[in-house]
Amino acid sequence: MHQTTLRDRVVVSGIGVHSGKPVAMSLNPAEADTGIVFHRIDAGAGEPIHARIDRLHATDSCTTVALNGLSVATIEHLLATFNGLGIDNVLVEIDAAEVPMMDGSAAAFVDLIDQTEIVTLTAPRRFIKVLKPVRIEHAGGFAELLPFESRRFEIDIDFESPLIGRQAFVVDLDATVFRRDLARARTFGFLKDVEFYWSRGLALGSSLDNTVVLGDDKVINPEGLRFADEFVRHKTLDAVGDLALAGAPILGAYRSYRGGHRMNAKIVETLLADSDAWTFVEAASVPKRDVLHDQMAVRLPAAAFGPDKS
Ligand SMILES: [Zn+2]
Repeated sequence: MHQTTLRDRVVVSGIGVHSGKPVAMSLNPAEADTGIVFHRIDAGAGEPIHARIDRLHATDSCTTVALNGLSVATIEHLLATFNGLGIDNVLVEIDAAEVPMMDGSAAAFVDLIDQTEIVTLTAPRRFIKVLKPVRIEHAGGFAELLPFESRRFEIDIDFESPLIGRQAFVVDLDATVFRRDLARARTFGFLKDVEFYWSRGLALGSSLDNTVVLGDDKVINPEGLRFADEFVRHKTLDAVGDLALAGAPILGAYRSYRGGHRMNAKIVETLLADSDAWTFVEAASVPKRDVLHDQMAVRLPAAAFGPDKS
């Protein structure tokens, strides 16, 4: 269990969901113990911005890191891809203040990484092992991290809209599960909120190409959903990305009810602030829990509609 990086530089472009403007981004190999680092190449030789909780700037509607007035927003789906596929060290060069939105999921970033290879470095990987429960509560929701022998996510959402309602999703994270169950789940939003954002000059890049939009009684996107429970899968994807702000993979169970970026980041902060609650463990072999996962997968509802069911 060693640290990893990418073999070669890979390049992608898209638009920023906030600005609606083009963004070019490259993922570059980085040395062991670099972590995930952003470099705003449009701002000259600025300092690198680590994708870590101590650089967290904002969590409203997306996750943003910043340093000395330079920020990078909407990092969560990219971080989720690194965390999900087991990539520890990457230098991300970007020419704008937000990661491109692509199709609102992590699928394009998985495809991008598949253009090169994940290579192993000599340094051992370190995990942050949860030693005792930590918990936060906010506005009727909660988030907690519990000791557990693998990287479990138990995400529970509860929306008033009957189009979403209550949905729960449980996964023991590894690269296979990430690719199959999480990467393709898209961002979603309500039409009334999108219209409100647009009227204020916000979310200018959001469209049916990168957001599942919910009207009063139906999904507006003509292609429908990719999974019957795409909403909770996306919230799980977000949590995988936000928990990467810890700076190392977390060995433990993360549970949230009515969570979101704010609570995901807050639980990382809460854990790391309590030195009795965690420790670094080196290269511990994380047990595979395929059997358990397969049992759960049987219980998951099959995709109900939409042409894209893989
Ligand atoms: Zn998201």
